[in-house]
Amino acid sequence: MRVVVVGAGIAGLTLAASLHRRGVPCEVFEQAAVLREVGAGIQIAPNASRLLERLGLAAHLATVGVQPAALEMHRWEDDRLIVRVPLGEECRRQFQAPYYTVHRADLHDGLRALVPTGHVHLGKRCVAVEEGPDTVRLQFADGSSTAADVVVGADGIHSVVRASLVADERQFSGQAIYRGVVPSSAVRFLQTEPRVVLWLGPDRHCVCYPVSGGRAVSVGATAPSARGASESWLATGDIAELMAGYADWCSEVRGLLTALDRVGRWSLYDRDPITRWSSQRITLVGDAAHPMLPFVAQGANQAIEDAVALSVLLAHSSAATVGEVLNRYAELRRCRTEEVQRISRRNSSALHVPNGDRRERRDAAIASSQAARERSWLYGFDAEHAALADVAGASRGSSMP
Ligand code: FAD
Repeated sequence: MRVVVVGAGIAGLTLAASLHRRGVPCEVFEQAAVLREVGAGIQIAPNASRLLERLGLAAHLATVGVQPAALEMHRWEDDRLIVRVPLGEECRRQFQAPYYTVHRADLHDGLRALVPTGHVHLGKRCVAVEEGPDTVRLQFADGSSTAADVVVGADGIHSVVRASLVADERQFSGQAIYRGVVPSSAVRFLQTEPRVVLWLGPDRHCVCYPVSGGRAVSVGATAPSARGASESWLATGDIAELMAGYADWCSEVRGLLTALDRVGRWSLYDRDPITRWSSQRITLVGDAAHPMLPFVAQGANQAIEDAVALSVLLAHSSAATVGEVLNRYAELRRCRTEEVQRISRRNSSALHVPNGDRRERRDAAIASSQAARERSWLYGFDAEHAALADVAGASRGSSMP
């Protein structure tokens, strides 16, 4: 079985690493000429960290990552604490896996090192996908092509592979996010204890957390945005424009944004959930399957779950056809990723309510919730075990008279 993955982001590399670990060789085709992940930090919750640790990244994450002691939400104007959710020890105790904040480039490097040399092909922008009864043919922008028994689209929100399965449009959220990294010496309030800190205000929010083993702090700040702006990871932002939107916020936020010397800016899009992820020989993982707004910090976590679940099914399933395996994978994943997409959209408005009664009710609800415990359906889930149980259940079923 020749498996070809389109896209070497977090989803594609995790899939390639997990397939190789299970003895299923695969080739990855990536449009970029140089493999690198840009942007700033990323939060890796226990539902993904346990999978990455099993893949062989435990030592790498412990070196490049930071385990925040807690997630805190504060009011925008006076920095008053709304809620503190313990993460560090609490996640290890409750979910038997750590919560990490890491720089995206560090995570990407770790994943890349798990894929055998020569299996990632750069400068290969896929432009067409043709599925036949026995094979799938991929065309690349440089005129070359390749054939595969199974094609997995890990090519993000603009997925060409997804477009071969379903015709749909991106949905614009009305918001952009500015992101950058500052030296940790510029953020004194994080030096006493590593934390994820959010400030919630009308129309926008700001978030920061330590990355790069604690040497730097990742900063993200949202702002209302006009339709049509770039959503590329490579678009740069105007710091003065960003600061103007936060001019009357508390000094902690203003100090954080002042420390930025360059920021990326991109508009935030997602897509509606789809019911059809797989055909007879094609399926999707990560943002190609379920692009979501970043307001639950789970897009990459879900991508990692997808990748590991798919690798288990491709390696171990006793289903009669590839199409059955791919459909089983989509069924196994769809409800969960749909729920995370839905909550991410809901948070898009809930995080940004104006001062007044609505905010008081929102803050009281947040403060009374035991967020980490309430997230056990999210953080406690083990996608690898779920896929192995599915395979075991299916093989018991197929051996019945
Ligand atoms: P991508 O990262 O988009 O990778 C796709 C890859 O495919 C790229 O390498 C691209 O070059 C390649 N590609 C695209 N088209 C082609 C083609 N035609 N041919 C060949 N190659 C192609 N998630 C979290 O879990 N935690 C967080 O804290 C978090 N924070 C976020 C903050 C922000 C501001 C944003 C925008 C997102 C955040 N996310 C977070 C979401 C997360 O970044 C994404 O869900 C994740 O990066 C998706 O990975 P992916 O590999 O599916 O797609």
